[in-house]
Amino acid sequence: MVRTRFAPSPTGYLHIGGVRTALFNWLFTRRHGGQFILRIDDTDQQRHVEEALRPILDGLRWLGVEWDEGPDVGGPYAPYYQSQRLEFYQKAVQRLLEVGAAYRDYARPEEIQAEREAAQREKRPFVYSRRWMAETAEDARRFESQGRQAVVRLKMPREGTLVIDDLIRGRVEFDWSQEQDHVIQRADGTCLYHLASVVDDYEFRITHVIRAEEHLSNTPRQVFIAQALGYPLPQYAHLPFVAEPGSRVKLSKRKLDKYLKNKEFAERVEHGRRIAARLGLATELEVFNPVVVDFYRQVGYLPEAIVNYLALLGWSLDDKTEMFTREELIRHFSLEGVNKAPASFDPQKLWAFQDRYMRAVPMEKKIELVLPYLEKVGWVSAPASAAVRQKVAQILQAAGDRIKTAGDILDYGYFFTPDDRLEYEPGAIEKRLRAPGVADRLRRFAQQLAQVEPFEPAMLERMMHDFVMAEGIKLGDIIHAVRAAVTGTTVGLGMFDALAILGRESCLARIERALQYAV
Ligand code: GLU
Repeated sequence: MVRTRFAPSPTGYLHIGGVRTALFNWLFTRRHGGQFILRIDDTDQQRHVEEALRPILDGLRWLGVEWDEGPDVGGPYAPYYQSQRLEFYQKAVQRLLEVGAAYRDYARPEEIQAEREAAQREKRPFVYSRRWMAETAEDARRFESQGRQAVVRLKMPREGTLVIDDLIRGRVEFDWSQEQDHVIQRADGTCLYHLASVVDDYEFRITHVIRAEEHLSNTPRQVFIAQALGYPLPQYAHLPFVAEPGSRVKLSKRKLDKYLKNKEFAERVEHGRRIAARLGLATELEVFNPVVVDFYRQVGYLPEAIVNYLALLGWSLDDKTEMFTREELIRHFSLEGVNKAPASFDPQKLWAFQDRYMRAVPMEKKIELVLPYLEKVGWVSAPASAAVRQKVAQILQAAGDRIKTAGDILDYGYFFTPDDRLEYEPGAIEKRLRAPGVADRLRRFAQQLAQVEPFEPAMLERMMHDFVMAEGIKLGDIIHAVRAAVTGTTVGLGMFDALAILGRESCLARIERALQYAV
């Protein structure tokens, strides 16, 4: 039985790299009919765990990366929070002391530091002298009488090598001499991450530890702990990291200034900010940031598109297939298909996936996707009436692939604004309405509009052409003015679609109102 885990620290955001790790664990597990566990690595966190965890849980659920055991769902090995598992860790420390794989160390931090500096001066690797190691109860008493406090350190091997067969990296060798006597328990009795991780992986019966490459170097000490405790070793699979756009450097949420120089990245940020601003969200990059999954949720990307894109961020089936449904990914995913080289985050490619998936969404589902946005900004009240749904369907139909994310519906506010509250953009007034002759022309156009039957795009188009002929003008001489008058903007949907969606009454009321600006 395959059992895997994703073990985030509750930091309040889910990084693209982190979610890719979760996804690969999940795909691998589903492929093998196993169980996927979510464990919360909160040993270093005293406060606000729930608050900082919620976005992570929401993000995973949004993507459909559901866990079989963990927060919210429980499971046979609960609790799944490291902060609640101290007694397991303390027992393990006790055992490590008993078997001689760990020792109580009474060194003061400055004494260790002095040893480290001496090693540096003499240009040799630092190896702790173990001078303050308590081998007997007698030693411990003596050190304590000097006012010293003990931490527990691993008594690591100092020679030989460790060989690991990593499922992605293959055979990896480590020199024990490079390892330190790592601390596993602090003076206050709390335990450190490496110990906790090994104990939990064992207690949760984890068979495959699939995680980010930066943990490869932690593996020797974890293997040492596991072996000393007599645990069977899980299989390790270290995933190459996700790199910055167009480079091999690890993607970070702190280097956005640099990424903004990448045109596609900057465009995605710009697009996201436009939607976020309409939603009244904070748009500073620290919180609204395309390296963080929540960005995509807020902007209204499709989880299927993100999952498909993320799956290809370091994994491939062959050198051509790109589109995978979730079921296909589960069917085909394998760790052998994971690349050893870092995969670079490519905002343009992600956008292309979004575009392809969005085009394929059926109308009924598209309506469901955009309605929550319209409700959030108060343009539509929930539950939406049949008439509203009908109007939304017409807008979606007319907008076609201009709506690339659900949030893009917010570009069409003028369809939802009451006629007497439509706002006119200054550009629309200056360029389109304050032109000589516009007022009269709009008045005459309105007279035609009042009579046209049926009030539908094709008929409206015919009417407009007749009007242009009769007036002896060019199409551009009227159409821009009409657009500005009924939408308040200079860009947007096809004009005849827009008129039809608004309906005769609205169009007439808006033209009437726009005449105050026209000359
Ligand atoms: N909490 C660790 C992290 O967020 C997990 C390490 C592991 O998977 O062993 O990187």
